[in-house]
Amino acid sequence: MVSSTDTCRNGHPWDEVNTYINPRVGRQCRECDRLFSVVKYRRQRERELQQRADYNMGGNEKDVWKLVSIGLSNQEIANVRSLTRRSVEGVMNRLYAKLGIEGDGNSKRVRLARMWRS
Ligand SMILES: [Zn+2]
Repeated sequence: MVSSTDTCRNGHPWDEVNTYINPRVGRQCRECDRLFSVVKYRRQRERELQQRADYNMGGNEKDVWKLVSIGLSNQEIANVRSLTRRSVEGVMNRLYAKLGIEGDGNSKRVRLARMWRS
């Protein structure tokens, strides 16, 4: 049985490989450090891309982005903005390109929506 003192608060082992001592704050977990810096880097990168895209946002791109962020489908956006579905798809593709979003259709949409809030 492993007691809670054998792992950090996120469940990583306090072993020789994963542990180092910071003279100021004591025992540190390398895995937590790594995860933290990965998340921090990703957030920072998304924020930078968002700012850059914001600056360079033309036509109805920002409006469509906002509607995506509240969960509307391309067809619904087309309906509320009196656009064709095809032109909404064109705007979506420009947004993905400007924001550097890659992957399959649904995961791209989820990321785009999340970036509006961040
Ligand atoms: Zn940890």
